[in-house]
Amino acid sequence: MIPLLLLTNILFNTLENYYVAEKIKTMRRQANIISTNLTVKGLDKDSTNITEYASKLESYEYERMLILDKRGYVVYDSNQRDVDKAYATEDVIDTLKGNTPTYSSREEDIIKVLVPIIPTDGKKGEVSGVTLLTSTYADITKTINEQKSVSYMIMIALFILIFILSYYFSGIITKPFKRLLVSINKITDGNLDEKIDIKGNYEIEEIGTAFNHMTDKLERIDETRRQFVANVSHELKTPLSSVKVLAESLLMQPDAPKELYKEFFEDISQEIERETIIIDDLLTLVTLDKKENELNVSETNLNILVESIMKRLKPLADIKGVEMVFESYREVIAEVDKTKIALAITNLIENAIKYNKEYGSIMVKLNSDYKNARLTVEDTGIGIPEDSVNKVFQRFYRVDKTRSRETGGTGLGLSITHQAILMHQGFVRCSSQVGIGTTFEMSIPLRRPLAEKNES
Ligand code: ADP
Repeated sequence: MIPLLLLTNILFNTLENYYVAEKIKTMRRQANIISTNLTVKGLDKDSTNITEYASKLESYEYERMLILDKRGYVVYDSNQRDVDKAYATEDVIDTLKGNTPTYSSREEDIIKVLVPIIPTDGKKGEVSGVTLLTSTYADITKTINEQKSVSYMIMIALFILIFILSYYFSGIITKPFKRLLVSINKITDGNLDEKIDIKGNYEIEEIGTAFNHMTDKLERIDETRRQFVANVSHELKTPLSSVKVLAESLLMQPDAPKELYKEFFEDISQEIERETIIIDDLLTLVTLDKKENELNVSETNLNILVESIMKRLKPLADIKGVEMVFESYREVIAEVDKTKIALAITNLIENAIKYNKEYGSIMVKLNSDYKNARLTVEDTGIGIPEDSVNKVFQRFYRVDKTRSRETGGTGLGLSITHQAILMHQGFVRCSSQVGIGTTFEMSIPLRRPLAEKNES
């Protein structure tokens, strides 16, 4: 609106100048006609005739007409005020020299046009008088003011309209955001099931959809967390319950023989051992889960790493008579966090031993392409039912709880493996056939992204 206001003012100034120029043109034309008529009719030499002629010219559009003689004396004044007075102003003298000056001033409120009266029979350059027409700005101001008031009215109407429209539309535009704010506040208060239904243009609807996706995800995370806490509590309670039962049964038999005490205490010790393993696994998982957890990357020879792990686990395999074979296609050197990758591989091979048949076998294969290292652990064990294959990486998931317990499993081993491999931007997958065997395949990039290396 401000530019519009400025523009209107400039426009009216230009318009006024135009009107003044037009008025001067008309007045000059009239003055010319008067001057010519005076000479043509030969009236210029006789003041009485001049008065008679001039007094008939009232219909012309000027406010005052003065006719001066060649000395600058007023011969005729349409206002009759200055007759016989001398008009020795600069512009009159100028006109008497044969020029046609004009003068206009808004402040003085005057427009003046002077035209010389040149006798028809006179010598060149002779001037016998001056026709002087004056006018005020009144009619121009009146016209301009009329136009101004019309345009100001239109502008005020426009102001009001724009104000109402912007108020209305800003309300419409901000409405969805207000609703979003209400929903965000509800979520902050803990209502994770809050959903929002925003209607509006494409972008606003997008925000609504993204918001709902976010709340869905938050809800899922919250549910997983709740499930995890429930599982943890349950897992930690199981050994404690056993300890309690064992202790109570001893308490109820004050005369129990020493051997029974010994046996029960061994069981209690085993349960405590199990509790410690669960807590250790949980701590490992929590450490891997941490966002700020950084990889301690170093160039690692995976052939050497796998061999050392297999060597460490050999006694466990020997108990079951399980044969382990390592097949390496090439030397694989990768930039990995050695501890975490060792943990992941150990869990896979340990499971292949634990869930193997007696005198079964395990085949560990290491290979790589130009980008990724690939490790497969293939066993001839009990296998995993089809509906469980995709669940084995879940925390605390065990196919056969009693069997897993017997083998000392916590259900956290594969979650740890999965997490460690994910941290390396790799993947791990499982395929299995019940009664025939299971294959775990993991893949990790050989090189870390440059940005990550710079950070570390
Ligand atoms: P656990 O500590 O019980 O071994 P894991 O997370 O390591 O926990 O494994 C989850 C479950 O997946 C195990 O309880 C077992 O039922 C199954 N599983 C894992 N590895 C194998 C395998 N090589 N052969 C058969 N079953 C397996």
